[in-house]
Amino acid sequence: MLRELVATNVFVFTSELYAQVTAGAILTPEGAIVIDTLPFPVETQEIVQFIEGRHGLPVKYVVNTHYHADHTYGTSLFKNAQVVGHRLTRELLDGPGREGLKAAQRTARELASVEICLPEVVFDEGVMNLHLGGVTLQMWHMPGHSPDSIVCKVKGENILFAADTVMPVPFFADGSWEDTVNSLESLRGGNYESIVQGHGEVILRGEIDARLEEDLYYLHTIRRRVEEIVEAGEGPEALSTIDIEECGKSRIALNGIVQQLHATNVEVLYRQLLAERDGTRPGQGQGVARENVEAG
Ligand SMILES: [Zn+2]
Repeated sequence: MLRELVATNVFVFTSELYAQVTAGAILTPEGAIVIDTLPFPVETQEIVQFIEGRHGLPVKYVVNTHYHADHTYGTSLFKNAQVVGHRLTRELLDGPGREGLKAAQRTARELASVEICLPEVVFDEGVMNLHLGGVTLQMWHMPGHSPDSIVCKVKGENILFAADTVMPVPFFADGSWEDTVNSLESLRGGNYESIVQGHGEVILRGEIDARLEEDLYYLHTIRRRVEEIVEAGEGPEALSTIDIEECGKSRIALNGIVQQLHATNVEVLYRQLLAERDGTRPGQGQGVARENVEAG
């Protein structure tokens, strides 16, 4: 696991075992706040050791940015911490999260000790402020990558832990294209010192604007290309002609995993646009019938 200092007492940990997924830690005189907890206990244990062993600080709070396994499986290692997240994260961890863990434990022995920990402190809308030892962490809902995603800002330092809202290729298979676009647009002009992505390298101040534009260009380009395929009546095999680099993204980021994310993105969009087209085709559907009833 890699460890990096991004501001005074703000650390980022990057997994070497799974897709360069990141976790963060903010150390204060009164204890630490951990943001996300990595999937494999062997690496999470290194974070525990660093904070509690080396710095002698208790971890007071763990923030779950969303319910996905690669961000939450380590949470149970922070025995005495209060777990914080969005209301939907609690609901999704309790349902699909538990089912996913059961399935994963059948094949991955290294997950045997993992337990699902539900956030005890949850919020819905607005900004949730967490105060500890002179640090204020602000959290708010940012759906798109998943319905429950949040981002966290270290106030003062102006460092944004964006979780999977910002990753080398925006990925919305468990969320929505529209929400992802709105969320990324809302981050424009935030004047951040750095953005910690959910996966991959920390984005530095001077790179942030260009990176957000690149992400939005990617999203709009794949949408246009998929719309063309749907309008031409072509089948899903045509989706392979949508090249990731033509959409403005590297094909080698995250050791090539981005190509799979991209393929899934275009497939999800294709299915969505087909359903929208078929749902609104005149004379075909209940959509029309229902509209007539309502109008009547
Ligand atoms: Zn992730």
